[in-house]
Amino acid sequence: MVQGTTANRILVFAPHPDDDVLGCGGSIARHVEEGAQIKIVYLTSGESGSLTVSKAELAGLREKEALAAARVLGVNDTEFLRWPDGYLTIKPEYLIKLTSLIRAEKPHRIYLPHSQDLVPDHLVTHQLVVEAMRRSAGPWFQECSPGPWSVATALGYEIWSPILNPGLALDISSFMDKKIAALREHRSQLEGFRYDDAITALNRYRAVMNSSYMYCECFQLIKIQAVTDNPAYE
Ligand SMILES: [Zn+2]
Repeated sequence: MVQGTTANRILVFAPHPDDDVLGCGGSIARHVEEGAQIKIVYLTSGESGSLTVSKAELAGLREKEALAAARVLGVNDTEFLRWPDGYLTIKPEYLIKLTSLIRAEKPHRIYLPHSQDLVPDHLVTHQLVVEAMRRSAGPWFQECSPGPWSVATALGYEIWSPILNPGLALDISSFMDKKIAALREHRSQLEGFRYDDAITALNRYRAVMNSSYMYCECFQLIKIQAVTDNPAYE
């Protein structure tokens, strides 16, 4: 397993608010310190997570929590697509939006859920983003303007479905405090579960098994591309 490097423009796709923090919050904070421009895109606002709070109220609350958490990590650029929580599917308008977004933002690196995530919205997010990256790279789909743009690196993050064979470990030891502080902005999610304890344990486990660091985030290598031969790479 290798240690990762940084990239200038980074896009993070989160199926729900808090997936970004859990899956790659430490890496986000590290990239911010290294000078990267980072945008986080939330596909849903996590509005289905209650039987008592209305969907509109919960969506508003979770978006506020996501904004506060992103600020803790040092990210001010966010976008909420407000697609239906629990009902993500592959459909043309989603692919058009994601492809257009990738072409407009021109990210060098993308973070997304890995390909064996057991949560349906996470798996569909993986499939949507991978297909949007493929579409973004070529001279086609004029409805997805501008274009084309080829993403150099795409990394799959893990939440509660650990990656069986991670290909990359990023040292987040210096950023673990920030990651947990960001996670604790998601108060509505921590009421019933100690996600802060769970993710600390996962990141510690990854560090013990893969390195001499204190905490690591591990990733699935989805795409790693030599950038010098890529005419679409600035
Ligand atoms: Zn999620």
